[in-house]
Amino acid sequence: MASNGNIHNEDNIQALTEHNLPTRTKDAFQPNAKALPAHFSSFSQSTKSIHADDPLNLLADVAPPIHTSTTFRYSHNPADLKPFRAADRPDKLLPFYQDTTEHVYSRVTTHSTSRLEAIMEQIIGAPCVTYSSGLSSLHALLCYLKPKRVSIGDGYHGSHGVLRLHTRLHGLQLLPLDCPASDLEHGDLILLETPVNPYGLAFDISAYAAKAHSRGAYLLIDSTFAPPPLQDPFAHGADCIMHSGTKYLGGHSDMLCGVLSIRTDLAPTWIPQLLEDREFMGAVMGSLEGWLGVRSVRTMELRVLRQSQSTDLIVTTLHAALTGKVLPNSRLDAQDIVPIKKVLKNIYHASLQAHDPDTAAWLTKQMPNGFGPVFSIELHNEALARTLPSKLFLFHHATSLGGVESLIEWRTMSDASVSRGLLRVSIGIEAWEDLLGDLIQAFRLLVEEFKL
Ligand SMILES: *Cc1c(COP(=O)(O)O)cnc(C)c1O
Repeated sequence: MASNGNIHNEDNIQALTEHNLPTRTKDAFQPNAKALPAHFSSFSQSTKSIHADDPLNLLADVAPPIHTSTTFRYSHNPADLKPFRAADRPDKLLPFYQDTTEHVYSRVTTHSTSRLEAIMEQIIGAPCVTYSSGLSSLHALLCYLKPKRVSIGDGYHGSHGVLRLHTRLHGLQLLPLDCPASDLEHGDLILLETPVNPYGLAFDISAYAAKAHSRGAYLLIDSTFAPPPLQDPFAHGADCIMHSGTKYLGGHSDMLCGVLSIRTDLAPTWIPQLLEDREFMGAVMGSLEGWLGVRSVRTMELRVLRQSQSTDLIVTTLHAALTGKVLPNSRLDAQDIVPIKKVLKNIYHASLQAHDPDTAAWLTKQMPNGFGPVFSIELHNEALARTLPSKLFLFHHATSLGGVESLIEWRTMSDASVSRGLLRVSIGIEAWEDLLGDLIQAFRLLVEEFKL
């Protein structure tokens, strides 16, 4: 049948088909995609994170393949070709990433980033758009909402950098987080970071939701410090959630990523425009980062729960030593208490806020599964804070957080606004006893060196 030996000849392709060899029609390439069961949304976070992208798994591979192509072939069937019309874009149906055989160009969608969006939508429970970084996702949201005013507290300094850009571009006004509600107007935005950088202290999401909504303003939660399963801001009235996916979604200190998730009833209007804007800003995740993201969110629930539990144990133990209330089954003996008290002046973490009954009333509802893996310590003076990281074996002295490796940062290295005695700690997946022991041996060395 293959009379002229030319593989591109249409007759030959027809002939190959008759012999059950692969054809160039798209059906032949997706025999393995599996649909999700109807009750999928009732599954646990880990089950969802392993299976939410099954419908996008077009090949026989169990582990997702790495795709690096920037461009994707159109259909070979002339009848399927749909010329581009910009007006089509806003009508795109949700979820947008299920158009998986329709990838065109990697500034629009890619296999890996679409899979990551599918997983994040199931985990968060609302549509998600991924970005090249946490800050580019914040920039994208501000471009979309065009608020005249943003009410914001202290917190991650980079977010303030993005706001300054908008002040420069079009006069965006900044209001303090505790401004009177009457200062906010329709279409304005409250940006609430909780737990907040660098202290790991929490704010009441429902109180800020009520304040925003009383004025027709929106509430954005920067939930980077409390990824799923620690906190569900939508359950407490948030309109939009932002994650620096660089932190716990990535979890291995090796990729940049941002995620915006939009409340389900707002998503059909917000998401199509956010997608179009993202295409023209070019603020997409790289294909390799998307692949790393899928690999990483698979284990997010395991990592984050362990990291948060370890943090609670370390913080509780240090705080008890500091306040003279040694816990009955504490790992510490009397000799450990002395160096802790000589070096440590204060410790900050949402778990300690829960000691106040009024705060505990909302905080334990808002963070039922743990208070997050980041806390801060203040030492008695600047020299101690500058030196502590050099005495530790198990903590890297570096900025950022959220990875499997424990990090400590003399915070003034990257944030000019904090006390020179402050160190921020990000707990990894090492055993908490090992980490606590490492901190205490370092405190002892400081006591010797500084003759405290
Ligand atoms: C890291 C971080 C960001 C910025 O995210 P990038 O991915 O670095 O752009 C924003 N908010 C918080 C709370 C962060 O920790």
